Amino acid sequence: MTHAAPLVLVIHGGAGVIKRDMNAAKEKAVRAAMAKALHDGYAQLKAGKSAVDAVTVAIAVLEDDPNFNAGKGSVFTHDGRNEMDAAVMDGEGLRAGAVAGVHRVKNPILLARAVMDHSSHVMLVGDGAEAFAKEQGISLVDPSYFRTEERWQQWQKALKEDNDKKPHADPETAKHFGTVGAVALDGEGHLAAGTSTGGMTDKRWGRVGDSPIIGAGTYANAQCAVSGTGWGEFYLRTVAAHEICMKVSMLGEPIERAAAEVINQEIPSLGGDGGAIALDASGNIAMPFNTDGMYRGWIGADGVAHVAIYDDEPDPSNHPPAPESSDDH
Ligand code: ASP
Repeated sequence: MTHAAPLVLVIHGGAGVIKRDMNAAKEKAVRAAMAKALHDGYAQLKAGKSAVDAVTVAIAVLEDDPNFNAGKGSVFTHDGRNEMDAAVMDGEGLRAGAVAGVHRVKNPILLARAVMDHSSHVMLVGDGAEAFAKEQGISLVDPSYFRTEERWQQWQKALKEDNDKKPHADPETAKHFGTVGAVALDGEGHLAAGTSTGGMTDKRWGRVGDSPIIGAGTYANAQCAVSGTGWGEFYLRTVAAHEICMKVSMLGEPIERAAAEVINQEIPSLGGDGGAIALDASGNIAMPFNTDGMYRGWIGADGVAHVAIYDDEPDPSNHPPAPESSDDH
């Protein structure tokens, strides 16, 4: 069978990266993990597997790495717990699966996938989601597995800021992004998107962000796939991922413009911030963000894993032409 579309995998490891918080060792570890996620996910596409397979595999690699706010290394809630959300969507047939508020699922993206593939529902939360995980033979771990010292310290700092200021209106405590996501285009020309996160540091009251909400942080259809990262409340209010895809599907906008309008105009105009990765059915990539940096990576026809962090590093959306797409400008 001939491939009508190029094979493409794009990932993010969260927006909100702040240069002064980085050090050489952390940067190296992040870049290595991103490259591994790209290689492992792309191998799925090369083997003829689906975009959903590529997205799931790439995200699971990042969930297992403690440097990202997903799976191991998730941020802490106000109660000192790790409470994770994830979603996956198959652009082919608009199938979707999502989980929210899980505490013991080693790889929430695998559970989201199981919800999509093996249940008649789209979204499961909390204990019920974990009961389903058990039934499906998905790995459950002790909640202490998710803890890292770095996230613990970020939480301590947020708690202190809580005492000094108004707790749930404080944008500083909202800054600890690091969610992971992926979008892919497979040999059948199908798109998929997925996102996994620990949410926001110091979140309360069972708060659920945009990542597991289909249309807000995660969306895919036949023409477009998006995974967002940033201040989730604003992605929920703008239904950001769906908004980007509707601009592409219904208005025929180029993906780069559609993504930039939502991420760099609509969300900041409400006071939010963050970024997104977006991919269309021809393999064109967009990676807008309005924070200091966004961990992001892509792999296409050249088979080379490209990783970028800051806004002065070239990527297919800010310094075209992309190596893997000819008509993205
Ligand atoms: N969007 C995520 C949330 O609000 C956070 C992030 O992207 O890091 O839960």
